[in-house]
Amino acid sequence: MTNKYMYFVANWKMFGDLRTLNTLKKVITFVKKFKKKKFKLIYCPPSTLINPLSKMFKNISIDVGAQNCHSNANYGAYTGHINSKMIKGVGAKYVILGHSENRQLGENDKLINSKIKSAIKTGLKVIFCIGETLKEKRKKITKKVLANQINKGLNKIKNKKNILIAYEPVWAIGSGMIPKESDLFKTINFIKTKVKGAKVLYGGSVNNKNIISLKNIDNIDGFLIGGASQNSNNLIDIIKKTYN
Ligand code: PEP
Repeated sequence: MTNKYMYFVANWKMFGDLRTLNTLKKVITFVKKFKKKKFKLIYCPPSTLINPLSKMFKNISIDVGAQNCHSNANYGAYTGHINSKMIKGVGAKYVILGHSENRQLGENDKLINSKIKSAIKTGLKVIFCIGETLKEKRKKITKKVLANQINKGLNKIKNKKNILIAYEPVWAIGSGMIPKESDLFKTINFIKTKVKGAKVLYGGSVNNKNIISLKNIDNIDGFLIGGASQNSNNLIDIIKKTYN
């Protein structure tokens, strides 16, 4: 059983609409009642739902985050984009940056670095995602890949206190596969030696079954949960089981 302050980040990806919000009533009731341990639950819905969710969570300690933002904190001619100021303005406190699904669409470390700087400057907290592909894992270059993502992604960012790191092996996202406990422990430790004092979350196929083993890895500071977070019962189960 863990006694640690843990983060649970629900990444809804491109799912959810206004009707979905009804399913969150049970999460609100759960968070109000579950006084057992201190934890932070952060919902990262699609941008269309940031404001409705912030309003819904107004009197409760659940935070809202965005799933990405533009690197320019100023307004400008960037069709289809929103910036850190805009998402903060509608209630977001966090933003996920460097997610592998966006890296796969062409986001590189330099762009991610400028997004992180812009978000921090605006006063948002950042959930910075890093992780190796299956090919890189097989080539046994995980550490090299992570070190590179960290060095470039956090380049010239001195104050890292508003940055949470999410270690998300690309091969584990949405695949049902998770790393071996011993590998995960070592990788999280490696990340913590690279970024002193960082809180490091694990993400990749976390569900209400594998949480039973994942919660025993005691250097993990929380979980980034994609698919399973779209079902309120599953998410509640994950949180409960983390503390049992
Ligand atoms: C994610 O979207 O960051 C993620 C970890 O997804 P899943 O839990 O579905 O693997």
